[in-house]
Amino acid sequence: MPEITDPTLNPDLKSWLSSANDPATDFPLQNLPLCSFAGEQGRPTIGIAVGDCVVDVDMLMHAGALGDDDAARGLHDAVHSGVSNFVLASPVLRRVLRERVQDFMLDKHAGQQGRRLRDKAVIPRAGVARFNVPCIMRNYTDFYASIDHARTVGSMFRPDNPLLPNYKHVPIGYHGRASTIVPSGVTVRRPLGQTKPDDAAAPAFGPTKRLDYELEVGCVIGEGNAIGEPIGINDAPGHIAGLCLVNDWSARDVQAWEYQPLGPFLAKNFATTVSLFIVPMDALAPFRVPTPARPAGDPAPLPYLLGEGDWSLDITLEVLIQSAQMRERGLSPLSISRTSFANMYWSLPQLVTHHTSNGCNLLPGDLLASGTVSGPGADERGCLLERTWDGTGPDGKPKPRKAIELPSGEKRLFLEDGDEVIFRGWCERSGFRRIGFGECRGTVTPAKAQ
Ligand code: CA
Repeated sequence: MPEITDPTLNPDLKSWLSSANDPATDFPLQNLPLCSFAGEQGRPTIGIAVGDCVVDVDMLMHAGALGDDDAARGLHDAVHSGVSNFVLASPVLRRVLRERVQDFMLDKHAGQQGRRLRDKAVIPRAGVARFNVPCIMRNYTDFYASIDHARTVGSMFRPDNPLLPNYKHVPIGYHGRASTIVPSGVTVRRPLGQTKPDDAAAPAFGPTKRLDYELEVGCVIGEGNAIGEPIGINDAPGHIAGLCLVNDWSARDVQAWEYQPLGPFLAKNFATTVSLFIVPMDALAPFRVPTPARPAGDPAPLPYLLGEGDWSLDITLEVLIQSAQMRERGLSPLSISRTSFANMYWSLPQLVTHHTSNGCNLLPGDLLASGTVSGPGADERGCLLERTWDGTGPDGKPKPRKAIELPSGEKRLFLEDGDEVIFRGWCERSGFRRIGFGECRGTVTPAKAQ
């Protein structure tokens, strides 16, 4: 494990904002994730989450609290635009912003002027009218990088041969739809679609009966690449600005009917929820772990995918669900899965390099999602398609799905209207502050009447 010498990760740093020092917070001084919120007059404003507050970066800049040297002047236009992509695109600006906001939040500079600025520019998140998607995500690509997910889903359709022959050679992905990316908290309407159950003579059109979530980690691109210029595997980490949580909502019955031969389409593109904060790669450095060794007999990645260093990340991921009835009765959300992102077969740098290997260009703010994150255990599965799957019986046919029992007495095979799905993610390691992702939430609302 590489030694961590980054001073912004010093666990002893303390803020004047007491909630930033709470050992349980997702957002200590060592995290400092970027977000976009409705600032003065509702204007989209770049923020940084600290403790239970958000720092209005534009206000800090105009008050001169980010300095007045060349580096600060470089930040000015990027921050004033209100579009965080301009900050994300430059590793230098990201770093300058990180260091200076951290400095402002440290227990110093407590003069009268400093205190007035603290009151104005550091706003309780609970009082913010609206959070936006954290940057403009112009492109969205979804991968399939968890081998446990690929294996379990594959076993439903091909019990004898769950993994297709390409899986261990090529990171599988498809182009998703960026226009329907919504921030955490926005409701998701149950989609209408065409389905055809195996025992039906003809397809029908109507609300999906098999609405599902997919627990994913989103990789947000920083500096992009020119078209025709692939990103080499050892340069790929430098193009990743940070990570967020992603819920790639899916309509399984629509998917089963439409996906051949070209892959996912309307079963996936009706909504994708992202968490509100882009956790910087700098903050995640202590949680890099060796990529799990490939089992004996697995092929080595082709040389263009074989890089240096450890790029798996030990992020604990959790799925919770709360039905409308649970909410009405004051019952807490139920945790139904927990897994680690360290289990992925393909690393994020491998996804970036593979994506650009043909010359495809990535833009600052583009979202590359990992695909459903599942672990080997039944309670580590990151979607209901897998979570309620109970394998096949002695006759080789699928056993009835095993419903999840909610504390209200209700049962779930797939999502019902009123259900809220909540993802959480966090990293912990002795000698470092806990780094969290905040939540990725979405509540299902009824389908539009036909
Ligand atoms: Ca997905």
